[in-house]
Amino acid sequence: MRLDKFICKSTHFTRAEARAAIRDGRVKVNGWYDCHEATQVHENNVMTLDGEILQARASRYLMLHKPAGFVSSNVSGRYPSLFNNLTHDDDNLHIQDVENLHIAGRLDADTTGLVLITDDGRWSFNVISPARECEKVYRVNLRDPITEDAIKQLVNGVLLRGSEQLTLPAKLTVVNEKEVLLTITEGKYHQVKRMFGAVRNKVLALHREKIGPLSLDVPLGQWRYLTAEEVAYFY
Ligand code: URA
Repeated sequence: MRLDKFICKSTHFTRAEARAAIRDGRVKVNGWYDCHEATQVHENNVMTLDGEILQARASRYLMLHKPAGFVSSNVSGRYPSLFNNLTHDDDNLHIQDVENLHIAGRLDADTTGLVLITDDGRWSFNVISPARECEKVYRVNLRDPITEDAIKQLVNGVLLRGSEQLTLPAKLTVVNEKEVLLTITEGKYHQVKRMFGAVRNKVLALHREKIGPLSLDVPLGQWRYLTAEEVAYFY
């Protein structure tokens, strides 16, 4: 991993503070000052800051119940960042640490539901990679009643505008004529909305209930750490 990332993982420094510490010569790798922010370091190297040995903190893994009106990004724009919901009193989650977290599978600003958040890039890749076939379950409210023909198309795969391949096979359960549960293993841009657009319907409300074996079990706007067993599922 890069030296600046390692410093963030082993302190409460932001990336900018880590880089400044390296530039100011406060950091040594195996006793050498001659390092820069992109120097690759390994667990068996000894990294020090002001002479103190640094130990990488364990990665963090969270589930959050996303409310509507938040953007799945670390920075606020037209809508506030989803990460604004992470600032509850927890000594383990300092505000600087939040900068190092990312979302494993974004939701649109108007979509609600289960979001997984981590600082472990390999783990989030496993959550979102279609090759891992991790199922995501969405509750979808529709403008028009669902038809048998639309169900058949959605389950077998539809062609999204701008795409050359059909969507991967999906599962669909009808709750009532205007509400369905759709299970997909991909996460293309606006995928669910575009899938229903492809069968000439329209999504009025979208909520993600499940990712793999993880079901949303925290109240709206709240979060919890995943258990070791939950984390292990995606490795
Ligand atoms: N598909 C969408 O269209 N939007 C989301 O937020 C998630 C999946």
